[in-house]
Parts: sequence; C-alpha cells; structure tokens
Amino acid sequence: MSTLLAEAGELLSAHGATALSTIATGGSDDANSYRHSFSTRVIHRFISHSWRDPVLLKRMALLWESNAGTAFAFGSAAASVSAAATRAGHLPTLVLDYGGGLVNVIGLSSSVYAFCFLVSLAYGHRLARALGLRGMIVFWDKACIRQDDERLKAAGITHIHEFIVASDRLLILWSEDYFERLWCNFELACFLRARGLSHVNLVPIAATRHQVAILLAIQYMSVAVPVLAASGVPAAISATSLDAVFACSLMPGGLVFGYAHASAIVARLRLQQQAAAFDARAARCFCCDHGHTSPETGATMACDREFVERVVQDRFDGGLAQFSQIVREALPAHVDALLGPALFPMPIWRFAIVYMPFVWLGVDIALCSPDAGVRRSNALEFGFGFGFLLTGVGLNGLLLTAVAARTDLLASATRRRLFLALGSATGAVAFVLGWGKWDAFFNVPSSAPPRRAGETAAVCTAAAALPVLLYAGASVGGRARTAAGPRQPAQPHEATRSIALL
Ligand SMILES: [Zn+2]
Repeated sequence: MSTLLAEAGELLSAHGATALSTIATGGSDDANSYRHSFSTRVIHRFISHSWRDPVLLKRMALLWESNAGTAFAFGSAAASVSAAATRAGHLPTLVLDYGGGLVNVIGLSSSVYAFCFLVSLAYGHRLARALGLRGMIVFWDKACIRQDDERLKAAGITHIHEFIVASDRLLILWSEDYFERLWCNFELACFLRARGLSHVNLVPIAATRHQVAILLAIQYMSVAVPVLAASGVPAAISATSLDAVFACSLMPGGLVFGYAHASAIVARLRLQQQAAAFDARAARCFCCDHGHTSPETGATMACDREFVERVVQDRFDGGLAQFSQIVREALPAHVDALLGPALFPMPIWRFAIVYMPFVWLGVDIALCSPDAGVRRSNALEFGFGFGFLLTGVGLNGLLLTAVAARTDLLASATRRRLFLALGSATGAVAFVLGWGKWDAFFNVPSSAPPRRAGETAAVCTAAAALPVLLYAGASVGGRARTAAGPRQPAQPHEATRSIALL
C-alpha cells in the first residue's frame, strides 16, 4: 500500500487523498480543491460519482455519510441539556392547560435537537478538523488529481485504479445517471474484483434531501400544534371542528413528508431497474459522445473506452460482458441489504434519526407536566409514537408500491409526476392520521379526562407491534421475491462465487 501510494503519489506530486472538508467547502475551483489534498496511507472511501450530478446533492450525501453520527450525538446531548434546564425552570415553556387535569408543558428541546443536528451535519467535519482530527479521508477525483496540468492529470487518471483498490470502501453516490457513465462502471469493476461487493456502499444522492425534508416536516409538526393550541384559536371554535383545525395545521409538514417518501420510492425503483438490467457495454463516455474531437479546442481526443476495456479485461476474463453479468446477479440483493425493503425507502436508523424532534417534544412534556399520571401517559405515548409513524410510513409505502407495480410507473415523466402528487396526498393523510390517533392534543376537548397510563400503554403496544410485523414481512417478502424472481439464474455464475470469496 505504501509502495503503491509512493509510486502514484510521486506522479501526483505527493497528493493522494483529501479530507471531507475539501469537498464540502470547495469543488468549484479545481486548482484550489487540489491544494487541500494530501498524501496518506489510508483512504477510507473512494467516492464514485457522475460528474454531471448536482454538486450540492453530492455534498449533502457526503456530509450525511461523514457527519450524521456526530450530528445525532451532538443534537441528543444538546437536547438532554435543554430538557434538564427546562425541568429546572431555566428555559421558557408554553403551558397548555386542556382542563380536566391534562396539562402539557412544551419546551424547546425539540427545536434544540433539530437545530444542533442540522448545524453539526453541515459543520461537524470542520469541528473535527479544529480538534486535530482528519475525520473521513476520501479520494475525490477532482480534488486528488491535478486539473490544471495535463501531464499530471493524465498520470492521475491512468493510476486511478490503484487508488480504487487501495481504498477501504467504495462509496457510490448513486443517481439515475450513474450506471450510464463509463468511468463509474470502470471504478466499480476495479473495486469489485479487488475487495468484493460487501465493501461497496451505495447512497442515492437525493436521499439526504428527503431525510432533511422529513426532519424539518416533523420539527414543523412538533411546533405547529403547540403554537396553534396556545394561539387561542381552539377556544374560539367548537370541539368538533378542533380536530379539523389541528389536522390542517399538520398538513404542510405531511405533504413534504409524503412527497419525500414518494420520491424515494421512485428513486429506489429506478435503482432496482438499473441494477437488474446493468450492462457496462452500453455506458457512455465523453470522448465517444463527441466523436473523439474536443468540443473546446477541436483537437483529437484519445478514446477512454479502449483504456477502460483493457483494464477491465485484465480483471475479468469475459471483459465488460462478464463484469456486467456479475453486477446483474449480485447488485439487486446487495441494494436491498444496504437500503432495506423498498416499502421503507431509507434505512430504518436514518428514519429514527430524523424522527427525534418528536421524541424530544415528548421528553419535555413528560418531564415537566405537573401530574404524575399525565407524565407517564405522555412518556408512553411519545415513546411509542415512533411505531405509529412507522405504521403510517409502511402503509403509505404499501399503497404506493402497489400503485407503482400496476402502472409501470417509470414509463413516463407524466406518470411519475402523478405518482409524486398521489404520494404527497396519501403521505400527508397517513402522517396526520397516525399523529391524530395517539396525540394528546387531539380528541381532547376541554372537558375530557386525561387518558390513563394503562389504557395508553395497551393501545401504544398494539400499534407499535404492527410496524414491526410490517417491516419484518417486507424484509422477508423482498428476499423471497429476489430468490424466486426470474432475474436469479438457476446456477450462479462462476465469477459470482469468486467475488463472494474475495
Ligand atoms: Zn471514445
């Protein structure tokens, strides 16, 4: 490894990799990006991406990959301090007295979590750097290969497969464009042969946008109902229309949530479709697209395809055809394992992280409500609330995937737009209904007594069991479909086994 980097590093002016901060802050100025790279013996991630994708989305995906754990820890720590300070009376609160003994004390912890999470998601790597830590070291082509010197640039490109095989993991920033790009396929082929598919991470770049949207939607809903309740509007209207007013106040957040969910399902379907039909021979590259003549200078360009085919042939006896077959056979199941069942289009732990503002809202209420029975009841409700929301997500996913399966959703842009509109509507309804089923704010006219803890626990447990069953069913169902589906050949290809053993 050190020899490899020494050789290649010499050619690259001793620059081998870059810390994440380069990508998060630079990227537009090529020479400036290269200045931030440094020589290293360790590359945690080789970033494989299409140059045509929006830089902002790729940055967000990398920030999530690098900083989400820190952001969750920092957000949780700050919210804990906030909850303790609220309990001790040091922070302002909103006291909602519904009568009949039901008093909810709304604190700031929910907003503190959301704010600190987002700030450390965006700047966590800078904090690590200030503390003398380099954090995640990545190979990012634009920053690690000289862009302003043609000789060094060519040297970097011809050595790129050596950096790929020297990296701990390959991180694919997937977009619909990814598998169509020849160089992306080249990077996957080199890494697949060297380290195997189990070391490949794949992140749909739009997913981070969805996750942040859901976080903000939940934060909005955590704030909207208390603010509305405190505004005096509910007192002026009848108890029967109260639910409708609260439901309407939740709708904007629900629509955002539903849209993000539907978008993620569309992206997931596209990913599955592309993985199952993968053929590197159909991939495109800049030189062939432009007839091997530079559109800027008119000079003749060497063909990248010849270089790529030669390197892939060295690694796979059957060349691009054999590599493609291996990907078709192994990648769909790997994607399922990485991203979870398609009904929940993001890994469950990511959903849990973005759901936390709601939990901290419950913690404030549970800690600060004056009555012990109400405290217990609220703690249970908010604790199990995740189950209710997950039920809403899962049922919405079931409906949407059923619609997608029957309409050949990916056939046209119009169908996709209609699907996103449907997803927004059903997501909002699922979310608001899920919220309304358990939320202490709902169905509590001023004269109603507070729910008893035992009653609440029974309802919450039953509701929490449903999403667990749903998730387990979706996981098992997904595997069964993969095993029995027509894409799975009766005999695994010989090369698939060799990849599995690597
Ligand atoms: Zn070419």
